[in-house]
Amino acid sequence: MRLVLLGAPGAGKGTQAAFLKERYGLAHISTGDLFRFNLKNQTPVGLEAKKFMDAGQLVPDEIVMRMTGEKLSEFKNNEGFMLDGFPRTVAQAEFLETKTKIDGVILFNIDDETIVKRLTSRAVCRDCGNVTNIHEHDKCPLCNGELYRRDDDNETTIRSRLKVFHEQTEPLIVFYRAKNLLLEVNAGGEKKPEEVFASVVELLNHDKN
Ligand code: AMP
Repeated sequence: MRLVLLGAPGAGKGTQAAFLKERYGLAHISTGDLFRFNLKNQTPVGLEAKKFMDAGQLVPDEIVMRMTGEKLSEFKNNEGFMLDGFPRTVAQAEFLETKTKIDGVILFNIDDETIVKRLTSRAVCRDCGNVTNIHEHDKCPLCNGELYRRDDDNETTIRSRLKVFHEQTEPLIVFYRAKNLLLEVNAGGEKKPEEVFASVVELLNHDKN
Protein backbone atom coordinates (compact mmCIF):
# COMPACT_ATOMS: atom_id res chain seq x y z
CA MET A 1 0.00 0.00 0.00
CA ARG A 2 1.28 3.45 -0.95
CA LEU A 3 -0.34 6.44 0.72
CA VAL A 4 -0.06 10.21 0.73
CA LEU A 5 -0.76 11.98 4.03
CA LEU A 6 -2.21 15.40 3.28
CA GLY A 7 -2.96 18.15 5.75
CA ALA A 8 -1.83 21.48 7.14
CA PRO A 9 1.33 21.66 9.24
CA GLY A 10 0.40 20.45 12.71
CA ALA A 11 -2.54 18.35 11.52
CA GLY A 12 -0.86 15.29 13.06
CA LYS A 13 0.51 13.64 9.91
CA GLY A 14 3.74 12.58 11.61
CA THR A 15 1.93 11.11 14.61
CA GLN A 16 -0.49 9.19 12.37
CA ALA A 17 2.45 8.02 10.24
CA ALA A 18 3.99 6.43 13.33
CA PHE A 19 0.72 4.54 14.01
CA LEU A 20 0.43 3.48 10.35
CA LYS A 21 4.01 2.26 10.36
CA GLU A 22 3.33 0.10 13.39
CA ARG A 23 -0.01 -1.28 12.12
CA TYR A 24 0.75 -1.82 8.42
CA GLY A 25 4.57 -1.89 8.31
CA LEU A 26 4.69 1.04 5.89
CA ALA A 27 7.89 3.02 5.53
CA HIS A 28 7.58 6.68 6.53
CA ILE A 29 8.95 9.21 4.05
CA SER A 30 8.81 12.76 5.44
CA THR A 31 10.27 15.46 3.21
CA GLY A 32 10.48 17.83 6.21
CA ASP A 33 12.55 15.22 8.09
CA LEU A 34 14.74 14.68 5.01
CA PHE A 35 15.42 18.44 4.86
CA ARG A 36 16.17 18.62 8.60
CA PHE A 37 18.54 15.65 8.22
CA ASN A 38 20.30 17.39 5.32
CA LEU A 39 20.52 20.59 7.31
CA LYS A 40 22.01 18.83 10.32
CA ASN A 41 24.64 17.35 8.01
CA GLN A 42 25.22 20.71 6.29
CA THR A 43 24.66 19.28 2.80
CA PRO A 44 24.09 21.67 -0.15
CA VAL A 45 20.40 20.63 -0.23
CA GLY A 46 20.03 21.32 3.50
CA LEU A 47 21.73 24.72 3.31
CA GLU A 48 19.63 25.73 0.30
CA ALA A 49 16.39 24.58 1.94
CA LYS A 50 17.08 26.37 5.24
CA LYS A 51 16.18 29.87 4.09
CA PHE A 52 12.78 28.72 2.82
CA MET A 53 12.06 26.62 5.89
CA ASP A 54 12.96 29.49 8.25
CA ALA A 55 10.58 31.78 6.36
CA GLY A 56 7.75 29.24 6.42
CA GLN A 57 7.89 29.03 2.61
CA LEU A 58 8.01 25.98 0.39
CA VAL A 59 11.39 24.81 -0.83
CA PRO A 60 11.38 25.14 -4.66
CA ASP A 61 9.77 22.20 -6.47
CA GLU A 62 12.93 21.33 -8.38
CA ILE A 63 14.94 20.70 -5.17
CA VAL A 64 12.12 18.78 -3.45
CA MET A 65 11.45 16.62 -6.50
CA ARG A 66 15.11 15.70 -6.92
CA MET A 67 15.46 14.74 -3.25
CA THR A 68 12.15 12.82 -3.15
CA GLY A 69 12.78 11.12 -6.50
CA GLU A 70 16.08 9.77 -5.16
CA LYS A 71 14.38 8.52 -2.00
CA LEU A 72 11.56 6.81 -3.93
CA SER A 73 14.04 4.99 -6.16
CA GLU A 74 15.26 3.12 -3.05
CA PHE A 75 11.91 1.27 -2.85
CA LYS A 76 11.13 -1.95 -4.71
CA ASN A 77 7.76 -2.28 -6.47
CA ASN A 78 6.22 -4.39 -3.72
CA GLU A 79 7.31 -2.17 -0.82
CA GLY A 80 4.68 0.01 0.81
CA PHE A 81 5.23 3.53 2.11
CA MET A 82 3.50 6.72 3.09
CA LEU A 83 4.54 10.16 2.03
CA ASP A 84 4.26 12.79 4.75
CA GLY A 85 4.55 16.40 3.58
CA PHE A 86 4.85 15.47 -0.11
CA PRO A 87 3.37 16.46 -2.52
CA ARG A 88 2.65 20.04 -1.47
CA THR A 89 2.03 21.54 -4.93
CA VAL A 90 0.21 20.31 -8.02
CA ALA A 91 3.55 20.19 -9.89
CA GLN A 92 4.89 17.84 -7.19
CA ALA A 93 1.76 15.65 -7.45
CA GLU A 94 2.18 15.40 -11.21
CA PHE A 95 5.83 14.48 -10.71
CA LEU A 96 4.81 11.79 -8.21
CA GLU A 97 2.48 10.25 -10.79
CA THR A 98 5.46 9.68 -13.06
CA LYS A 99 7.26 7.80 -10.26
CA THR A 100 4.68 5.53 -8.64
CA LYS A 101 1.01 4.60 -8.29
CA ILE A 102 -0.67 5.91 -5.14
CA ASP A 103 -3.46 3.84 -3.54
CA GLY A 104 -4.99 6.53 -1.35
CA VAL A 105 -4.59 10.07 -0.06
CA ILE A 106 -5.61 10.65 3.55
CA LEU A 107 -6.67 14.24 4.19
CA PHE A 108 -6.49 15.38 7.83
CA ASN A 109 -9.01 18.19 8.25
CA ILE A 110 -8.31 20.70 11.03
CA ASP A 111 -8.97 24.40 11.64
CA ASP A 112 -6.21 27.03 11.69
CA GLU A 113 -6.61 28.17 15.30
CA THR A 114 -6.25 24.62 16.65
CA ILE A 115 -3.06 24.35 14.61
CA VAL A 116 -1.57 27.57 15.98
CA LYS A 117 -2.36 26.43 19.53
CA ARG A 118 -0.85 23.00 18.87
CA LEU A 119 2.33 24.10 17.13
CA THR A 120 3.20 26.88 19.58
CA SER A 121 3.35 24.19 22.29
CA ARG A 122 4.85 21.37 20.19
CA ALA A 123 8.09 19.72 21.28
CA VAL A 124 9.95 16.91 19.53
CA CYS A 125 12.21 14.28 21.09
CA ARG A 126 15.79 14.47 19.87
CA ASP A 127 16.25 10.72 20.30
CA CYS A 128 13.05 9.02 19.11
CA GLY A 129 11.23 11.80 17.22
CA ASN A 130 8.09 11.50 19.38
CA VAL A 131 5.94 14.65 19.30
CA THR A 132 4.66 15.97 22.61
CA ASN A 133 3.45 19.11 24.42
CA ILE A 134 6.11 21.34 25.99
CA HIS A 135 3.70 22.45 28.74
CA GLU A 136 3.04 18.86 29.80
CA HIS A 137 6.52 17.30 29.63
CA ASP A 138 10.12 18.39 30.10
CA LYS A 139 11.54 15.02 28.94
CA CYS A 140 10.21 12.63 26.30
CA PRO A 141 7.44 10.56 27.95
CA LEU A 142 8.40 7.55 25.79
CA CYS A 143 12.21 7.36 26.05
CA ASN A 144 13.18 10.12 28.50
CA GLY A 145 15.12 11.84 25.69
CA GLU A 146 15.73 15.56 25.44
CA LEU A 147 12.90 17.62 23.92
CA TYR A 148 13.46 20.51 21.52
CA ARG A 149 11.28 23.09 19.75
CA ARG A 150 11.48 23.29 15.95
CA ASP A 151 12.82 26.65 14.70
CA ASP A 152 9.75 27.07 12.47
CA ASP A 153 7.23 26.48 15.30
CA ASN A 154 6.90 30.17 16.21
CA GLU A 155 3.64 32.00 15.60
CA THR A 156 4.86 34.22 12.71
CA THR A 157 6.30 31.28 10.78
CA ILE A 158 3.30 29.08 11.60
CA ARG A 159 0.96 31.70 10.07
CA SER A 160 3.13 31.83 6.91
CA ARG A 161 3.10 28.04 6.67
CA LEU A 162 -0.70 28.04 6.98
CA LYS A 163 -1.06 30.67 4.26
CA VAL A 164 1.21 28.62 1.99
CA PHE A 165 -0.86 25.53 2.76
CA HIS A 166 -4.13 27.23 1.80
CA GLU A 167 -2.72 28.78 -1.37
CA GLN A 168 -0.39 26.11 -2.73
CA THR A 169 -1.28 22.77 -1.15
CA GLU A 170 -5.08 22.90 -0.86
CA PRO A 171 -5.52 22.65 -4.66
CA LEU A 172 -4.36 19.04 -4.20
CA ILE A 173 -7.69 18.27 -2.53
CA VAL A 174 -9.50 18.89 -5.81
CA PHE A 175 -6.70 17.15 -7.74
CA TYR A 176 -6.97 13.92 -5.74
CA ARG A 177 -10.75 14.03 -5.29
CA ALA A 178 -11.09 14.06 -9.08
CA LYS A 179 -8.97 10.89 -9.17
CA ASN A 180 -11.20 9.27 -6.56
CA LEU A 181 -8.26 8.82 -4.18
CA LEU A 182 -9.23 11.17 -1.35
CA LEU A 183 -10.07 9.75 2.11
CA GLU A 184 -11.07 12.50 4.57
CA VAL A 185 -10.59 12.36 8.34
CA ASN A 186 -11.58 14.89 10.98
CA ALA A 187 -8.36 15.62 12.90
CA GLY A 188 -9.40 18.84 14.62
CA GLY A 189 -11.03 19.95 17.84
CA GLU A 190 -10.15 17.91 20.87
CA LYS A 191 -9.78 14.63 18.99
CA LYS A 192 -7.10 12.41 20.46
CA PRO A 193 -4.49 10.90 18.08
CA GLU A 194 -5.84 7.40 18.83
CA GLU A 195 -9.36 8.48 17.83
CA VAL A 196 -8.08 9.98 14.58
CA PHE A 197 -6.19 6.75 13.89
CA ALA A 198 -9.33 4.65 14.46
CA SER A 199 -11.04 6.72 11.73
CA VAL A 200 -8.05 6.22 9.43
CA VAL A 201 -8.16 2.43 9.87
CA GLU A 202 -11.92 2.40 9.25
CA LEU A 203 -11.47 4.40 6.05
CA LEU A 204 -8.67 2.16 4.80
CA ASN A 205 -10.70 -1.00 5.52
CA HIS A 206 -13.71 0.45 3.78
CA ASP A 207 -11.58 1.53 0.83
CA LYS A 208 -10.29 -2.03 0.35
CA ASN A 209 -13.82 -3.50 0.05
P1 AMP B 1 7.29 19.73 7.62
O1 AMP B 1 8.21 19.03 8.56
O2 AMP B 1 6.53 18.78 6.73
O3 AMP B 1 6.38 20.71 8.33
O4 AMP B 1 8.22 20.59 6.63
C1 AMP B 1 9.05 21.63 7.13
C2 AMP B 1 9.43 22.57 6.00
O5 AMP B 1 10.17 21.85 5.00
C3 AMP B 1 8.27 23.19 5.24
O6 AMP B 1 7.73 24.35 5.87
C4 AMP B 1 8.94 23.53 3.90
O7 AMP B 1 9.76 24.68 4.02
C5 AMP B 1 9.86 22.32 3.70
N1 AMP B 1 9.18 21.24 2.95
C6 AMP B 1 8.86 20.00 3.38
N2 AMP B 1 8.26 19.28 2.43
C7 AMP B 1 8.16 20.10 1.34
C8 AMP B 1 7.60 19.96 0.05
N3 AMP B 1 6.99 18.82 -0.34
N4 AMP B 1 7.66 21.01 -0.79
C9 AMP B 1 8.28 22.15 -0.43
N5 AMP B 1 8.80 22.37 0.78
C10 AMP B 1 8.75 21.36 1.68
